[in-house]
Amino acid sequence: MNLAIPDKISNYIGGSLQAPLGLRYLDNINPATGEVYSQTPDSDITDVEEAVGAARGALPGWSSTPVETRFRILNRIADLIEENLDVLALAETTDNGKPLWLSKSVDIPRASSNFRFFATGIMHFASESHQMEHAAINYTLRQPLGVVGCISPWNLPLYLFSWKIAPAIAAGNCVVAKPSEVTPMTSYLLSQICIEAGLPRGVLNIVHGTGPGCGSAIVAHPEIKAISFTGSTRAGREIASVAAPMFKKLSLELGGKNPNIIFADCDWDKMMRTTLRSSFSNQGEICLCGSRILIEESIYEKFKHEFVQRAKKLKVGDPLLDDSRQGAIVSKVHYDKVMSCIKLAEDEGGTVLAGGTSVIVPGRCEGGYFIEPTVIEGLERHCRTNMEEIFGPVVTLQPFKTEEEALLLANTSEYGLSATIWTNDVSRAHRVASQVQSGIIWVNCWLLRDLRTPFGGMKNSGTGREGGWDALKFFTEPKNVCIEL
Ligand code: NAD
Repeated sequence: MNLAIPDKISNYIGGSLQAPLGLRYLDNINPATGEVYSQTPDSDITDVEEAVGAARGALPGWSSTPVETRFRILNRIADLIEENLDVLALAETTDNGKPLWLSKSVDIPRASSNFRFFATGIMHFASESHQMEHAAINYTLRQPLGVVGCISPWNLPLYLFSWKIAPAIAAGNCVVAKPSEVTPMTSYLLSQICIEAGLPRGVLNIVHGTGPGCGSAIVAHPEIKAISFTGSTRAGREIASVAAPMFKKLSLELGGKNPNIIFADCDWDKMMRTTLRSSFSNQGEICLCGSRILIEESIYEKFKHEFVQRAKKLKVGDPLLDDSRQGAIVSKVHYDKVMSCIKLAEDEGGTVLAGGTSVIVPGRCEGGYFIEPTVIEGLERHCRTNMEEIFGPVVTLQPFKTEEEALLLANTSEYGLSATIWTNDVSRAHRVASQVQSGIIWVNCWLLRDLRTPFGGMKNSGTGREGGWDALKFFTEPKNVCIEL
């Protein structure tokens, strides 16, 4: 198949690519140039109604399709993603502003891994049985939920979209999905891939549009039994307020303000290399980036000096060039937000040690939204800069004297998504890991992901873990059958 980036994106409903019923479109902007490069459907409740109808129609057939057939189709989707790596990576970079090499080496390969993982997972998915001595046997049937809604953000567009869709359809559900209106292109190309892979009509329906315009219609639709959402804590709260009183199953993967705790006994070179990545990869627009760097006092000055020098050397440039370490911020709105956060940090008494300003990238990217990697120190732990998610290339440094103080700083947050701990003291690593209030903890590494493990946050970072069996369990209804012996 020959995939190409079109001027106009279509919805994917009932197996067909079609215009939004209201014929309204949104501009799709390349953040590296600031120019409009295509149009995205501005769908509304009528498109969602049609998508739900298509999904309901497909449900009896798909939920009774043998798992081996589902396995084959999902694997075929993964094959086609891999065969179309170049165009998908270019589409993602054009939508999102991230470096092309990052899209090619991480985001798109991980999207195909998601389909492969859940294709295989459903072949091995087993339900539980419990014997009550000589009294009874219980077994748990795990049946598809029905029609489910999947809503995803802009930072890892295809990866996070497929992370929801793959387990949902593998488990026999039919899906109404909405990607972010800021980065719709890869999910549009995915709809063409699904057609080519032979996914039956209506099993996956992709409706493009805004959160208020069509995301909220998915959340409120009475026929949609579950919502799997990744995005901001603000939107997660709104979604929960609508879906919870309807008793929908909810998985919410939300914001973060992740601590990166560095003890003096760490492996210095590995820590320094990885901390640069965990701070600034994808312009800091990964929910798992460490945005609060906590450093043991005895190494604070040494760390600060080397980290700042290295952050200043990261090249901010055209995302299409191989030597650009940082690309563009995803949109003008988000660029303005990040710049206002830097200003707030200064108003709160912080000292900007590196970056802090926007960057003009000459040539084709002159109109793009670029910000230097920014390092700030001197802020007190409760200030807004240390409490609120910025979601950009901005980190703060805070010294600590003791393990207790490190934990106090780390846990001073309403969020609890991930944390990184750097130490060669095994006992301390276990001790701190058990006390940091985060759903995902990396010791002496960052962003290593085993898809079998539960993924998600504590506190205001979300509820309902996704990953491995947890995702397949989320997308199935457990029904216990008890037989008296
Ligand atoms: P967002 O909440 O603005 O939007 C996410 C998605 O929800 C988009 O598709 C949007 O159109 C839709 N939406 C917004 N309001 C809605 C509503 N009321 N009803 C239904 N749909 C609605 O988030 P964003 O700006 O796209 O993404 C950035 C955020 O996502 C950050 O907070 C980041 O931490 C978070 N994130 C979390 C994870 C995680 O795994 N925890 C992963 C990636 C991103």
